[in-house]
Amino acid sequence: MSNSSLSCMRKISPMQGGRKSHAIERITPHCVVGQTSVEWLCDFFYSSGKEASCNYGIGTDGRIGTIVDEIDHSWCTSNWDNDDRAITIECASDSFHPYAFNANVWKSLVNLCTDICQRNGKKKLLWLGDKSTTLAYRPKSDEMVLTAHRWFDNKSCPGDFTYSRLGQLAKEVNQKLSGVPAGPFKPYQGQVNADDGLNCRTSPINGNVIKTYPDGTVVIISKEDGNWGFTGEGWVCLDYINKIASAKDPATKEEEIMDGKQFNKFFNEMRQQWRDNDASAYSEEARKWAVDSGLIKGSTSGEFNGMWEDLMTREQLVTVLYRFAKMMEVI
Ligand SMILES: [Zn+2]
Repeated sequence: MSNSSLSCMRKISPMQGGRKSHAIERITPHCVVGQTSVEWLCDFFYSSGKEASCNYGIGTDGRIGTIVDEIDHSWCTSNWDNDDRAITIECASDSFHPYAFNANVWKSLVNLCTDICQRNGKKKLLWLGDKSTTLAYRPKSDEMVLTAHRWFDNKSCPGDFTYSRLGQLAKEVNQKLSGVPAGPFKPYQGQVNADDGLNCRTSPINGNVIKTYPDGTVVIISKEDGNWGFTGEGWVCLDYINKIASAKDPATKEEEIMDGKQFNKFFNEMRQQWRDNDASAYSEEARKWAVDSGLIKGSTSGEFNGMWEDLMTREQLVTVLYRFAKMMEVI
């Protein structure tokens, strides 16, 4: 029995239950609801007087502290049975929904879970997806199981960000446990999903900002470092990149790139397509929708907003808009 050598400090909280009476077979990550330092976490659980603790705390820069020895029972998950067999880890997070962990914290969490599994003789970390399946499961002696605080108390902990990534956490940990290096990296195309744009930095996390990609920009990620991807110009946080397809697969790319942010592209393609075809017989369905929705005033002679007239005929536009609205599922 030991603690993780990844921990850079040890400050044992008095708020705990002493020796665990059950073997370690679970890991429960929690969100702190604040981007706190590891020093703050250690001090808080040592001296706040609150009847709460955890085995490890991870600060916002990714450094790890030992707060209750692994062998001992932390007061963390509002459930005696869980805390008696789990290593609990409080992780610095945003203080607002979905309580995201930054890249430093995520990387440390992966490394810490891997180290915990290795030292406790576990070859595999399992995410079984829901409470009833997990609690009914009897782990084999070389298996570790992920659990969630929200199953035991009326809390969102570990936050939707992390809860939805517990499968990813298990996958990353198991990759490391297997000792087999990840397969060769394949560049892929991704689209920026950030209303205010996405900063591109000289290096992951703290590098200088080189530029800001506008929302919707498509980039090629040619290498990754943790939760950061290289665009050819610099590094971007992959939380704000929607993966589209392998960069070598243009057909799939065309399919998947289609969302609201790509309307201009779609619009231009459709415009050309309808110019090339005779659109005079645009569909009955589209015309009816255009009249019903007030886009044109009558069945055939209604007036249109003049700004469109130099782009295409009314019929062409109605058909394009109708198709687009269908695609976006707004009608
Ligand atoms: Zn929690």
